[in-house]
Amino acid sequence: MKVYFWGTRGSLPVSVTAEEVRAKMFRAIKKSKDHSFNNDEEIEKFIEKDLPFSIRGSYGTNTSCVEIMGGKEYILCDGGTGLRDFGNHASKSSNKGEPNQKNIFNIFISHLHWDHIQGFPFFTPAYIEGNSVNIYGCHNELEQAFINQQNYPYFPVPLKYMKADIRFITLESGKEYEIAGFKVKVMKQNHPGDSYGYRFERDGKSIVYSTDCEHKDDVDNEDYVFLDFFRDADLLIFDAQYELEEAIDAKENWGHSSNIIAVELSVKAKVKRLCIFHNEPTFDDEKLDQFLENTRRYLAIHAESHPLKIDLAYDGLQIEL
Ligand SMILES: [Zn+2]
Ligand SMILES: [Zn+2]
Repeated sequence: MKVYFWGTRGSLPVSVTAEEVRAKMFRAIKKSKDHSFNNDEEIEKFIEKDLPFSIRGSYGTNTSCVEIMGGKEYILCDGGTGLRDFGNHASKSSNKGEPNQKNIFNIFISHLHWDHIQGFPFFTPAYIEGNSVNIYGCHNELEQAFINQQNYPYFPVPLKYMKADIRFITLESGKEYEIAGFKVKVMKQNHPGDSYGYRFERDGKSIVYSTDCEHKDDVDNEDYVFLDFFRDADLLIFDAQYELEEAIDAKENWGHSSNIIAVELSVKAKVKRLCIFHNEPTFDDEKLDQFLENTRRYLAIHAESHPLKIDLAYDGLQIEL
């Protein structure tokens, strides 16, 4: 299985400002001043080896959208603005208008906050006849929310004018399903208006997509339900939008968790790889580099013996399991 992150930002899209680009250039030039380069290859090598990700790249713009690859049909988690980029990419490679498994899109929606559905009106494959789009979720308002966001006066094209065969399928928390060749388990999460996590299993590998969830009082219990949901996962995609102080103080009950709780639960549930997700929109790239560093340091100090690999998601990150 492979996972590709099309959108990783929490709450709303964020772009790198002109001022930030200039600051990245300044830092890059400063770091290069003692180097001499004889060809393009040496420059490439310097960028890759000597510049931190916050200078040579960016954690990205788009809101939640993650592709899980490995089956014949497309599987996506959430339809934030990253869905637009995915759709444009998929339209280039699919057989337009021809019935084909490449034309079946399965989108699992965690919940109906804007940042998880706002990419759908711009999802090109939904406009193409012959495509099938199955939208899975657990909220009773699932279909109505998708209809509403494209109704007058919010968007010029109502959902009913999209030409693909679009279906809404309601799932239930605690149940297990067979969908598009994956075993899918659903879990209700603590978030304003509720959200749902999904565990995908196939070929002996497991991926848990668990965003917009606030873990609080029960986390210390040995029988905390999420320990089972995360147990032995090859990859856990986890909403850690906040630093610990924020999560337990100013932003308590906002529905998100911290990087520290992410590590604690991953270690307890023997997760193999943790990917921090739903990045805080007010954190710039440098701050996110630091956030990742702090999270890894916390693991090293408090859970040295557990071989957990930690990443921080960015638009364009690909993880192979
Ligand atoms: Zn969100
Ligand atoms: Zn939310």
